[in-house]
Amino acid sequence: MLTFFITFGAISSAHGADNTLVFYADKQVSDTLWPSLFSTIQDDLAKGGYGIADHAPRLMRESDLFPGEEFGRVVEVKLLGRCDVAQQAYRPLKPGPLGWVLRVHGEIQPYIYIDCTRMAQFLDPTTLGMSDEQRRRAMSQAISHVLVHEWIHIATQNSGHTAHGISEAQLTASTLVADPETHHAAAAGSEKPFVTTERAPVAAEK
Ligand SMILES: [Zn+2]
Repeated sequence: MLTFFITFGAISSAHGADNTLVFYADKQVSDTLWPSLFSTIQDDLAKGGYGIADHAPRLMRESDLFPGEEFGRVVEVKLLGRCDVAQQAYRPLKPGPLGWVLRVHGEIQPYIYIDCTRMAQFLDPTTLGMSDEQRRRAMSQAISHVLVHEWIHIATQNSGHTAHGISEAQLTASTLVADPETHHAAAAGSEKPFVTTERAPVAAEK
């Protein structure tokens, strides 16, 4: 009875959500990624105070979609490369974004792109010395922060950036892996290397 109650509660709240984030990933990505990534995103949105109205969107994988299923607002999240491994073979990091959105005819589209290959390499120095579990958590947290950053662009239809916090144009590695409670404070005045969160064209198109 208790099990039934909990399951029923989860289903009703999922159906009550305004937004659904549907995730697409590389076929090679291990299934073990999803529970940790989804719980990190839920935690981030619940605690982060990011100004996104929907603190509990429905999160699902593309493979869990049923034909004909109906949704409210859908944002598609494309994870590029291996998001399930925090350390990858070293390749020199070319300048470029960790995540981006696209603007078409003045409208920011409901698609978020996150480059996990670049993310893993960018986080490499930060995650050095961490256990496998800590590295996985750091990677999930970084993906979550970039996702929130990009989702704010879509939700607000504003490609602008702020001086501090999750909507900064450039996030440092320490900000990316920080827990939601602490990352606002960690953002200021860092001289550590950073990578832009998105392609210039997003902001450039008038
Ligand atoms: Zn941005």
